[in-house]
Amino acid sequence: MSAASSGASPRGERMAPFYCPYCGEEHLEPREEHGSWFCPDCVRSFTLKFLGVGVPGTASKEIPR
Ligand SMILES: [Zn+2]
Repeated sequence: MSAASSGASPRGERMAPFYCPYCGEEHLEPREEHGSWFCPDCVRSFTLKFLGVGVPGTASKEIPR
């Protein structure tokens, strides 16, 4: 029995979207491709890609509204 049950697993890149970004459907089906999801409602397939941690555009202090 492995007692290593820390919350974040480094290998598990499972990012499940809460809803379809196109139609808002919440029942998404994972595709065979890694990080790919299929929305049966609007029949769209899309992927999620992790871009990194940090606030983008921190170099400039002026934040346009
Ligand atoms: Zn959809």
